[in-house]
Amino acid sequence: MKTTLVRNADVYAPEPLGRRDLLLGGGKLLWIGTDAPDLPEAFGASTVDLRGRRLLPGFIDGHVHVTGGGGEAGFASRVPAPMLSHYTRSGVTTVVGLLGTDDVARGIRDLVAQVNALREEGLSAWGYAGGYHLPPATITGSVRADLAFIDCLIGVGELAISDHRSSQPTLDELLRIASETHVAGLMTGKAGIVHLHLGDGARGLDLVRRALDQSELPPRVFNPTHVNRRKALFDEAIELARRGCTIDITAFPVAEGEDAWNAADALVRYLDSGAPRERVTVSSDAGGCLPCFDAEGRVASMDVGHSGALADTLQELLARGVALEDALPAFTSNVADLLRLPGKGRIVAGADADFVVIDGSGAVSDVFAGGRPHLRNGAVLRHGTFEGSSRHNDQTGAH
Ligand code: ZN
Repeated sequence: MKTTLVRNADVYAPEPLGRRDLLLGGGKLLWIGTDAPDLPEAFGASTVDLRGRRLLPGFIDGHVHVTGGGGEAGFASRVPAPMLSHYTRSGVTTVVGLLGTDDVARGIRDLVAQVNALREEGLSAWGYAGGYHLPPATITGSVRADLAFIDCLIGVGELAISDHRSSQPTLDELLRIASETHVAGLMTGKAGIVHLHLGDGARGLDLVRRALDQSELPPRVFNPTHVNRRKALFDEAIELARRGCTIDITAFPVAEGEDAWNAADALVRYLDSGAPRERVTVSSDAGGCLPCFDAEGRVASMDVGHSGALADTLQELLARGVALEDALPAFTSNVADLLRLPGKGRIVAGADADFVVIDGSGAVSDVFAGGRPHLRNGAVLRHGTFEGSSRHNDQTGAH
């Protein structure tokens, strides 16, 4: 694999390091420092001069329907799988794939296959066993064995609570699956978390509070997402973060006057709340259906989540004057810590060479994944296997 010398990067690691040069090789960041010497020609290194543009860790999107999600409004509403550049052109270099409402027509075998396909194409990818429902979708028959024996599966999700589409899990059922996930995490060093889909239901996070009150399970095992979908739910989530849970904000579109916080609003509110800064993340729900239901539980309208929502949210935060080093951990280091991905989320020698370069306006201009350039000056350099032909446009990538 080619060696690359990146010069004159204004590095946010995510903490600001100032002007640095970086040497990438073998998929890793080999060296970071100042005033790197030119490399001997025999090394065949290429040099990229960023001229002071900002270089960030690649974004980690912890909630992605890599196989395509949806299916709430008939089989025709099953969303196609997003392709490689859907992720990379927006700075996402790591994804965690999962199943949602449809965990019967789609399964964990398909999920693992797609995670491995994305890995072959140069992205970093992991996945969750299970889906919305109980008993959980698995390959081996138990989530504990799936996590123990299937390399890329690192937790369980998205298990639905407080939602009319959920299995209406009881406290005992939640505790059982959380304990299996936690123990598998201990056995393997994997994240071992239950990523909980929160619906609009008035019960909110009550089940999780009772799980914390009535078990020995550490709070980090419970990882609620979509917590910004109702304003009162978000207040509950902040309280849970104070108790040790990491909460996940979804970067979905929010209409004017809706009882929800958009992702930028939610992150600002979180940071202002004084809750622990390392216990908040932002994910996109890419490839997932974003249905709006009427009072009868019927789909009234639909949208599709896209990974570009992370970069859009970061850009909005910067435009509002939030310091880059304050906003960035929720997209990078906080996610890596929760998911126990030590090579991810930070710019440090020895870590994976996953980087995003943003221009003066905060827009993504260049992306490296595993040391390879995927985006340069806004142009996609690498496409997925079935991208690029006129018959296979990535429709889920449209904003
Ligand atoms: Zn969900």
